[in-house]
Amino acid sequence: MNENMAPTYMTRGLDIERGKGIYVYDTQGKKYLDLMTNYGVNIIGHANNAVNKAVNTQIQNLTSLHCSFENKTRQKFAQKLIEITPKNLTKVYLSNSGTESVEAAIKFVWAYSKNRKIITAKLGYHGKTLGALSATTSSPKYQKPFKPLFTEFEPISYNNIEQLKLAVNKKTAAVLLEPIQGESGIRPATKEFLKCARDLCDDNDALLVFDEVQTGLRTGNWTASQLYGIKPDIMCMAKSLANGVPIGVTLISQKVSEKLSKGMHSCTFGGNPLACAAGSATINFIEENNLLEHSKQMGDYFIEQLSQIESPTIREARGRGLMIALDLRKRHSAYLKKLQEFGILAIPAASTVVRFLPPLIIEKEHVDTAVDTLKQIL
Ligand SMILES: *Cc1c(COP(=O)(O)O)cnc(C)c1O
Repeated sequence: MNENMAPTYMTRGLDIERGKGIYVYDTQGKKYLDLMTNYGVNIIGHANNAVNKAVNTQIQNLTSLHCSFENKTRQKFAQKLIEITPKNLTKVYLSNSGTESVEAAIKFVWAYSKNRKIITAKLGYHGKTLGALSATTSSPKYQKPFKPLFTEFEPISYNNIEQLKLAVNKKTAAVLLEPIQGESGIRPATKEFLKCARDLCDDNDALLVFDEVQTGLRTGNWTASQLYGIKPDIMCMAKSLANGVPIGVTLISQKVSEKLSKGMHSCTFGGNPLACAAGSATINFIEENNLLEHSKQMGDYFIEQLSQIESPTIREARGRGLMIALDLRKRHSAYLKKLQEFGILAIPAASTVVRFLPPLIIEKEHVDTAVDTLKQIL
């Protein structure tokens, strides 16, 4: 462990020096099957040739360019984002991370509405900067040292339609939800819950905000909004969008866009051509290789194989596309540690969930390796 790093991260005890495709390699040359991809970032695998080529070309032309200038690479990426997301979303705000995409969403909500109250879901995760953190309740330890934070956020139980109906009224500015809760254990919303949120927002002139930072490109669709067939007014994306180059995106509908003004929100690096080039290359690669369909098939196969493991330790295998949870009847830590020893990287979620966020290029043989290893460990 590097003694120069601030001690805010748990440590894996691994020194990784390179990656290729679905594998990463440590300094000893040991190979790991990467089924976590840095919390869902490397969506088409490490060191993807198409992304590398786009980044290499861009880096020789222009890396950073403030959004007060025009740029074709950025324009193309923005256009692509509008093309692949729900049709009512017509503008993009570009930043550098998931939490920034949520910060922008919160500010846009408050710019749009005369109200301040934002209804969120218990156990939701939206990031750790102070605004996003005010909406993050997946673990009490995240908020506790920094309270009171913003007090306009009111969490209700996820998938609880009665509580949602009681919470949303004429004083509500927005409902902010993950369509599938990631950090708290890959818990998909019911369609009825999201539909109810959509209807209540319409009835009360409140905005529906979907945090798709984790679900983006990962559910067998471009977005979970499309998986559910529900259109948010604001959508946050980040993690997977540029296959590892830092990026954040906040998509907004026309009526939200009309309430924004110059200087109200900005950031220096947002929309830099380097990230935009990587983003376009990532999306194009997924399109050209039909990876959404492939990932859906692989996800179904992975969940089915996990479900067939016979072990009293397993509570449930669940997920959508390649957002997959193996929910245990015990704490996850020992199992994650064993998996790592056996050369497989997964991530914790909640306290009992082994979470898999593999790249879309995963094949059956990789799933089989993971499932066989899990059988041994369990
Ligand atoms: C990871 C995540 C964030 C925060 O993204 P960062 O890039 O880590 O700031 C926000 N929302 C959701 C749903 C996430 O999974």
